[in-house]
Amino acid sequence: MKTKVFIHTNESKASKVVKEQLISMLEKSNFIVTSSFDKSIDLLVCVGGDGTFLQAAHKYGFPDVPFIGINTGHLGFFQEIMPNQLDEFIYYYNTNKYRIQKITTVQAEIKTKDETHNLIGINEIQIKGPSTSSTHLNISISGSFIERFSGDGILVSTPSGSTAYNYSLGGSIVDPRVNLLQVTPIAPINTTAYRCFTSSIVMPAELTLEVELDDYTNGKTLTVIYDGMPIVYDNVESVNFTMSKETINLLRFESYDFWAKVKSKFI
Ligand code: NAP
Repeated sequence: MKTKVFIHTNESKASKVVKEQLISMLEKSNFIVTSSFDKSIDLLVCVGGDGTFLQAAHKYGFPDVPFIGINTGHLGFFQEIMPNQLDEFIYYYNTNKYRIQKITTVQAEIKTKDETHNLIGINEIQIKGPSTSSTHLNISISGSFIERFSGDGILVSTPSGSTAYNYSLGGSIVDPRVNLLQVTPIAPINTTAYRCFTSSIVMPAELTLEVELDDYTNGKTLTVIYDGMPIVYDNVESVNFTMSKETINLLRFESYDFWAKVKSKFI
């Protein structure tokens, strides 16, 4: 049976050129390239940077179908191949020289006075105060009180998001084979008035990070940012973070090595 492929691309000229080249090469190699996403596809190719991959995973609702990324962005941590490797990609795919890397995600359950909202982050979910105000959060892990946080906010990162904003905030790089969530403070205040941890906290994936808003947080308004996308909620009572059930299947060549990628992108 022929492999059915859907190609998602960002709006850049370079990505559109790669998409056209790929369509022509795939069709010559007996693949079917479809112009709309549906459940019958066998492979989702994503042309762009990491940002494009994040958008595609959200847009198509975390489908089970394997993703492969072609990097026309800057960093390309999720993206497996470069535009000059299209031949290799088709060869490796046809000869089954690949494996699937499961990407885990984080979920935030936001309880406001009247409603409950759920968001999923592939890289991370951040909570921050309204506008430029500091926020005051009472933080527990599965019922055990940890700290009263004061500062700009906190970021809860997945292992694969650890190299993104988490890293810029001083968080640690985590091998995606480890099942955990990393809680990284954003500009924590440490004075005689406020005391909180200045380093990341790492917690096992099966526990829940529970956050309650302190009375000092203005109007109980929070900005929740999932993979760079902000939503403002009023009258927030609590936010619980857990490892989400949603995962993404990333197609990796046999030569893929997480630490080699870290070295090539960061050092
Ligand atoms: P964006 O402009 O699309 O992305 C910002 C940069 O982060 C890009 O260079 C992107 O790589 C890179 N990136 C994304 N995911 C990554 C990962 N897992 N590992 C390493 N680098 C990664 O920003 P956005 O649309 O607002 O948000 C998308 C993501 O970007 C967020 O989830 C956040 O983690 C990250 N971000 C980082 C910073 C920072 O480090 N100061 C600031 C804002 C956002 P590509 O060039 O390949 O797309």
